Amino acid sequence: MSQRDRIMRDAQRTAGEAREAAKRGREAQKKERAKRNFSTPDHRHCSVCWAPIPLDEDPPVCSDQQCGETRRKRESSRKRLTVMLYLFPAIAILLVFLQVIT
Ligand SMILES: [Zn+2]
Repeated sequence: MSQRDRIMRDAQRTAGEAREAAKRGREAQKKERAKRNFSTPDHRHCSVCWAPIPLDEDPPVCSDQQCGETRRKRESSRKRLTVMLYLFPAIAILLVFLQVIT
């Protein structure tokens, strides 16, 4: 191997190491930033658009009127579903019961 080749190889290795170090630095920076984001003050999120809102916001929606509307709709359909969940088995049991006693 000639001296020229050796110098070439060493230069490439050094460049590679520099790149590696730069990448490590960037990654550490990114991690640092993520950690900083993670330690934001306590908050909750709008249940519709997930925008951060104050922790004691009730109902948990942002100030957007559309979000309030959507949440109301979801809430009422959830309530209806819960009622049906209890009502249908109750009716079924009632029918079976009526058949048994007659
Ligand atoms: Zn929202």
